[in-house]
Amino acid sequence: MNKLLFLLPLVIACTQQKTEKTLVAQEQPQQEDTAKVEIQYHDTTMVKLSDLSDLFVYDMKYATDDNFLKKTVYECTNCLVRYQVAKALIVAAMEFQQYGYKIKFFDCTRPVEVQKQMWEIMPDARYVANPYKSGSIHNRGAAVDITLVDESGEELDMGTAFDHFGEEAHHAYTDISDEVKTNRLLLKKTMESAGFLPIKTEWWHYNFGVEKFNITKVPLCD
Ligand SMILES: [Zn+2]
Repeated sequence: MNKLLFLLPLVIACTQQKTEKTLVAQEQPQQEDTAKVEIQYHDTTMVKLSDLSDLFVYDMKYATDDNFLKKTVYECTNCLVRYQVAKALIVAAMEFQQYGYKIKFFDCTRPVEVQKQMWEIMPDARYVANPYKSGSIHNRGAAVDITLVDESGEELDMGTAFDHFGEEAHHAYTDISDEVKTNRLLLKKTMESAGFLPIKTEWWHYNFGVEKFNITKVPLCD
């Protein structure tokens, strides 16, 4: 079954009734014996996004050495987020579909241990949240690092690479082409309308802005 078709009623149900924590999807009664499907996710449940939707693509940078740490710090390429965040990402993804674009993930939930490794290398709170203070929203399952890709899978021009630590990656930086400006704005407006908040210094980073989640202890890998 198409995962998105399966999930859509759940997204709509959640949008309509925010206090609803348990959602049940059910096939037609005559198929009940074999096809009844029950999902019991709380909004805070950590979920693997690829289990819920086929709308996304992944390029998990910390599962490779193509990152500012120059080493592989994730043992898998899972993108985990809170269920409430996953639902909002699907809403955003459906909006981007109108343009023929998909969200591509660079990072989702990040274990606190990895946050500490990052802090050792880059102890600058403008770019890495201090794990010995409140930590990162990435540690709470509610932040994502993303860009957009077109129908051929090519990344849209956002002006800098992911994890470019400099003013060129700031939202307020204006010395960029009209194309970059348009792409960044589309990403920002759409994510904001789905409930995410940008940060000033990274065009790729979005925090889910409604709930305050705890630091997660759920393992990143299966
Ligand atoms: Zn981030």
